Amino acid sequence: MKIHKILIANRGEIALRVMRTAREMGIATVAIYSEADRQAPHVKYADEAVCIGPPPSNQSYLLGDKIIDICQQLGVDAIHPGYGFLSENAAFARKVREAGIIFIGPSPESMEMMGGKISAKQAARRMNVPLVPGVNEAITDRVAAKQVAAEVGYPILIKASAGGGGKGMRVVNDEAEFDEQMDRAVSEAIASFGDGSVFIEKYITSPKHIEIQILGDQHGNIVHLFERECSIQRRHQKLVEEAPSAVLTPEIRAAMGQCAVAVAKACGYYGAGTVEFIVDENLDFYFLEMNTRLQVEHPVTELITGVDLVKEMIRVAEGHELPFGQEDLEIKGHAIESRVCAEDPRNNFLPDVGTLHTYVRPQGNGVRVDDGIEEGQPIPIYYDAMFAKLITYGADRSEAIGKMIRAIDEYQITGVQTTLPFCRFVMQHEAFLSGKFDTRFVGLHFKPELLDVQPDAIEIQLAAVLAATLQGRKATLTQVSASVATTGSRWKRNRLG
Ligand code: ADP
Repeated sequence: MKIHKILIANRGEIALRVMRTAREMGIATVAIYSEADRQAPHVKYADEAVCIGPPPSNQSYLLGDKIIDICQQLGVDAIHPGYGFLSENAAFARKVREAGIIFIGPSPESMEMMGGKISAKQAARRMNVPLVPGVNEAITDRVAAKQVAAEVGYPILIKASAGGGGKGMRVVNDEAEFDEQMDRAVSEAIASFGDGSVFIEKYITSPKHIEIQILGDQHGNIVHLFERECSIQRRHQKLVEEAPSAVLTPEIRAAMGQCAVAVAKACGYYGAGTVEFIVDENLDFYFLEMNTRLQVEHPVTELITGVDLVKEMIRVAEGHELPFGQEDLEIKGHAIESRVCAEDPRNNFLPDVGTLHTYVRPQGNGVRVDDGIEEGQPIPIYYDAMFAKLITYGADRSEAIGKMIRAIDEYQITGVQTTLPFCRFVMQHEAFLSGKFDTRFVGLHFKPELLDVQPDAIEIQLAAVLAATLQGRKATLTQVSASVATTGSRWKRNRLG
């Protein structure tokens, strides 16, 4: 069925991102907005816009029934949920379907199976996809669970089945802490998610977070669009992502891709989804969970594959077959994303509130900015602190890194502190350049004081040469001196201003 009008049940950068593709496809767009977002760019961009309620999301963006009513009043055929808010709410997806509206995403049944970490693991196990050693079902017998913990070896991680956003996880370092941490995990899970089921995983001490993008249609075809490396995190939440990973071999990439497709098949998946894995230092990988929606970091995949994921989601929702098979997809070049959050990396990444007094985006070859705010606007305190994403694309990894540094230096933001200085720090750190980093990067390598240290030109040259060598090619002198030149100019500007 051809979709003529889409309501985007979201705000900010992702609402705009979806609307742009809809417009390219000749589909009309409807925005919803809270009172805090009256002036937001996504409201102005849409063909029609409806105020849905007061700022808190439980009085606005989470009002599923009201959103369905708006669709019926305005003759909307389909809802795109973006990420967050209602995007993984199977009950909402079911109501949308019952109202005769297309939900641009998987079926509620797939969402339910993948929604709980425990049921997702059981589906993965049926497909022989490797799981982190531990107790992969809801713990009812503590004594038996303690025994498994001792067998897999401490430290272990207690996780909430309904967990998300890094919440509901507790590290247990030895058996003496087990009962206390278990009590805390269960009460935290009940308080945050209304579901106290928890399970145990071995705590992987040098973990890389690598995920596979998948895309399926309603005719049973499923492909993967390679990996995204998302190990640079704070509070278990991603800050820098890239595609492809600097360390995966073609064989491991293919094996992970096959496992991801198997997980998607296990739940009859269609639409865009992401299968997350944790990868240890030997590059052994284990299934973590599946996200049944578009991810924040999807642009890096779009850049290396040339596929517009939102367009494919819409086409799949219309009932079309995927226009390509696995053999048609290949990785071309390298892409990196830096999340721009109103947070202060000098102060433990605490959210920083304020108004964007200056906001000038970087431009130029290989630079994409997905954002949802304009100069002069306040960043609403009610929602996520991420207000923009800076994505760069280059022929190879060192080119993408060079473009990221250049683009961060061009980005002018005043009024709030952002994560950009941290992302720039990452781009020059030896651990990142060498690819030898894991989710402990911030804890191991980052100190706020380092943001104010001026790496000298020699170090930067070495870093560029090292990155290029690890990519298996020689750095040209022009690339090295270009990287020194851009880096140099920034400190001059900082000293002036
Ligand atoms: P959430 O749904 O809350 O995001 P995930 O299961 O996706 O939780 O895990 C989030 C992050 O926590 C991962 O990216 C990784 O950094 C860390 N993590 C998860 N499981 C493990 C594990 N078994 N060992 C070490 N780190 C882990």
